[in-house]
Amino acid sequence: MSNIGRGIKRRRIKIKCMVCSRVFDNDYRIEHNNKYHPEYRKQNKLVPYETLGAPKNPFEAAKRKQERLETNIEVIRYYNDDKIMQ
Ligand SMILES: [Zn+2]
Repeated sequence: MSNIGRGIKRRRIKIKCMVCSRVFDNDYRIEHNNKYHPEYRKQNKLVPYETLGAPKNPFEAAKRKQERLETNIEVIRYYNDDKIMQ
């Protein structure tokens, strides 16, 4: 295992194991694999997980960011118009 990323504070997210349907924190994943799916480790197979509460794909996240940006632009326009009116 590599040590890259160690010491970096990561946001704790919930993940769901696709094999046994258990839900736990992402940092508990290794312990979970050792405890419930040692055969996956032995066979060098990856245990599939589903991330809970995260957007289904990166395009969805980009779209949301774009919507927020457009909202900010609307607010600025409103203030500009308001200043011209007075
Ligand atoms: Zn599991």
